[in-house]
Amino acid sequence: MVVENLAKVEKNICAACQRSGRKREEVTLIAVSKTKPVSMIEELLPGGTRDFGENKVQELCDKYEQLPKDIRWHMIGHLQRNKVKYVVDKACLIHSVDSLRLAETISAEGVKKGITVPVLIEVNVAGEESKFGAAPEETEDLIREIAKLPSIAVKGLMTIAPYVENSEDNRGYFASLKKLCVDIKNKNIDNVSMDILSMGMTGDYEVAIEEGATMVRVGTGIFGERDYTI
Ligand SMILES: *Cc1c(COP(=O)(O)O)cnc(C)c1O
Repeated sequence: MVVENLAKVEKNICAACQRSGRKREEVTLIAVSKTKPVSMIEELLPGGTRDFGENKVQELCDKYEQLPKDIRWHMIGHLQRNKVKYVVDKACLIHSVDSLRLAETISAEGVKKGITVPVLIEVNVAGEESKFGAAPEETEDLIREIAKLPSIAVKGLMTIAPYVENSEDNRGYFASLKKLCVDIKNKNIDNVSMDILSMGMTGDYEVAIEEGATMVRVGTGIFGERDYTI
């Protein structure tokens, strides 16, 4: 089932790329495996899938230990400062940096471990009360402060768009995140590259690709509904 679902998502991604005149290689599909067993991840490995997303440090670390080391683990969930030390050398990219304090902790752990940690800045593009993320208007200043820190490198932006019935309702948010990304890239801030735009989930990844996403995070569309009661 998982392999078939992935094939459907892959087909949709190709179609969205074609509609928007983009190359398939410009978009990385992250299979969001949170709450799902290692056995489901293993089903996707023979087909070549290597990018997986997790939103909890403990779960990411457990799966990291059990699965092949060539898997690229993406930390996509809210990150507490006291858990940073466990994840900085296991995640290939932390998508959810939204404060200078968190960035300082990541930087300090990077220094300790002798690595540079690539991160995205999470932006609350719709200004939803319930969501984490920097406000769009404070994002550039936050990036300028983070850029001064050692052992952390800002690679782009991430957003979790509102939950909507009709994915078209999020098109404007995706377009405005793309614009913010380009605007900041054009400032040529030292140590900041802004080449990654992580946006789009099961309900809206095709629209996100049409608006410039370079990473889409798809969970339900590949692994099925999540059961949080177990
Ligand atoms: C769970 C999650 C996803 C995947 O959501 P689906 O709607 O199941 O595709 C994507 N991004 C983040 C940050 C998530 O927490």
